[in-house]
Amino acid sequence: MPGFVRTTDRLKRRASLLLFFCSYVLLTAQGFAWGPAGHRWFTNRATDNLEGPFQELFSKHRSTVVQQTMGPDYRKDQDPEEPSRHFIDLELYGEFPFSDLDLNYDRLVDRLGKERVEKNGTLLWAAQRTFEKLVEAFHRQNLEQILLYSADLSHYVGDLHQPFHTTKNFDGQLTGQLGIHSRFESELVNLYLERVPFLKAAPTDLGPVMGQLHEVAVESYQWVDDILRVDRRVVSELEIDRKQYLGKANKGKKYPDQYFKRLFDEVGGVLENRLNQAAYRVGCLWWMAWEKAGKPDF
Ligand SMILES: [Zn+2]
Repeated sequence: MPGFVRTTDRLKRRASLLLFFCSYVLLTAQGFAWGPAGHRWFTNRATDNLEGPFQELFSKHRSTVVQQTMGPDYRKDQDPEEPSRHFIDLELYGEFPFSDLDLNYDRLVDRLGKERVEKNGTLLWAAQRTFEKLVEAFHRQNLEQILLYSADLSHYVGDLHQPFHTTKNFDGQLTGQLGIHSRFESELVNLYLERVPFLKAAPTDLGPVMGQLHEVAVESYQWVDDILRVDRRVVSELEIDRKQYLGKANKGKKYPDQYFKRLFDEVGGVLENRLNQAAYRVGCLWWMAWEKAGKPDF
C-alpha cells in the first residue's frame, strides 16, 4: 500500500491548529472508537487480504473474529486501565513529529510516571502487547486465544487508524467542533460505508512492530486537521447552528444529511484510506504473528 505524502501545507495547518489548543478540557476518550460497522468492515477485509492456507484458518473462523472485534470496547467497564488503551494523544509528546514519545513503555513511565503515560493514552503498547500475545497463542496452537487476540489486535490497530484517536482534540472540543469524532467514524461510516471501495492488498512483513505502529499513529494524526477544516467549512456554508446539536436535550440529534453528503464528498478519500490501511495492517500483523511463531499448521 502506498505511503503518505506529508505536505508543507498540512504541516502549516497543523501548526496553526495547535495554537488553538490553549485549554484542555479533561475528558476521557471512553466510549469513542470506530463504530461497530467500521471495525467489522476492516476485520472482514483483513481476512480477505490473506492468502493460502493461512487465509483458510481465518475464513473458517471469520464470524468469531468479527464478532469479537468490539470486545476491547466492552471491557472498558470492567478494567480501569482499558479506556486508555484506545487512544494516544500525540501532542502531549511535543511538537510534530512528537520526538518526546519514547516508544519503550518502561522508559517512558520512568521518565513521566505511569499516571501521566496512562492519561496520554496507551494504544501503541496495547497493540504491541496484543501482537505478542497472538504470537504466543500461535506458538501454543491455542485456537480460542488465537481468535481472541486476532480480534483484539484488529480492534486496537483499527483504532490507531482513526485520526481522532491520536489527538487530544479527539472530539473537536478544543476547536468548537464537538461531536466530530462520531460524525466521522460512526455516522459518516454508517451512511456511506457501502461506497468505500475495498483495495485488496496481500500481507507483507512490515518490519519491527512498534516502529510500524508508531508510523501509523503519526500518519493518522496528519489527517486530523484536514477533517476539522472540512467540517468547519461545511458547517459554515450550510449555516448549521452547532448549538442545536449540543446539550442533554439534543442527545442523539444528528447533523443534516446534506452535511454528511458534503463531508463524504470531501473526506470520503480519507475514510477509504484509513479503512483500507487498517485492513492491510491488520492482515499483515496477523500473518507476521503466525510467521514469528514458526508458521504452525492447523
Ligand atoms: Zn476502541
